Amino acid sequence: MPELPEVETVKRTLNTLVKGKKIDRVTVTLPRIIQRPAEIESFCAALAGHTIQEVGRRGKFLLIHLDDLVLVSHLRMEGRYGVYSSDEPVEKHTHVIFHFDDETELRYKDVRQFGTMHLFSPGEEMREAPLKKLGIEPLQDGFTAELLKEKLGNRRSFIKPVLLNQHIIVGLGNIYVDEALFRAGIHPMTQADSLNDEQLKRLHEAIIYTLQQAVDAGGSSIKSYVNGQGEMGMFQHQLQVYGQEGKPCVRCGQLVEKSVVGGRGTHTCPSCQPRS
Ligand SMILES: [Zn+2]
Repeated sequence: MPELPEVETVKRTLNTLVKGKKIDRVTVTLPRIIQRPAEIESFCAALAGHTIQEVGRRGKFLLIHLDDLVLVSHLRMEGRYGVYSSDEPVEKHTHVIFHFDDETELRYKDVRQFGTMHLFSPGEEMREAPLKKLGIEPLQDGFTAELLKEKLGNRRSFIKPVLLNQHIIVGLGNIYVDEALFRAGIHPMTQADSLNDEQLKRLHEAIIYTLQQAVDAGGSSIKSYVNGQGEMGMFQHQLQVYGQEGKPCVRCGQLVEKSVVGGRGTHTCPSCQPRS
């Protein structure tokens, strides 16, 4: 699933490709992708004639700001956007097409069909699901070690599932949680409310560092993620524990282990992340 760095990369790419383009009409061939409004006809009719002003991001969601409308899009497992000339053949699993008035199209392709789109009036999107209850943005200035401490202080569960919870901090998924916990030297099964100030400081730094490095590398291409231009991200080459089971730890040489924490495959170094 794309995490914050991958969605940020798609956002940046889309801004270079579709900003300023005017939607002529919209075609939807898989109605269940469209969650709001309930009627597909209303969705298509509402978007016709509108111009894309800017593409933003909140957590793992893309926010396509148009004049008078905001389209909130979640790629879930394998959703992808691409911009094509309208005479190019439409690939299989393309479910939504935004036809622009300049003979180009933004196409949304989703093999697994788990992606969603919600259409709102500007401002309304932050007051309703799916964005309403999202937690802190870790790459924004407001994310401090003190705030992390406050958010984790009363959580009596393992740190890994707490970090995956989008209502607390947004954008982290399985890859970047494993990487950040390794960098901070914290075992994923440590109780969130038991972290001391030193560990919280290291974790705060590790979350920001890991996500920022991944954004700078254009995200990670683990299974099928590609940005809006069909290019692969490069951060998978910098992963230190995720997917590295059986290989020597980059810090201490002990072999990286894989286990299951909170139902998710989890990668750790037994010596750098001792279980307290
Ligand atoms: Zn190690």
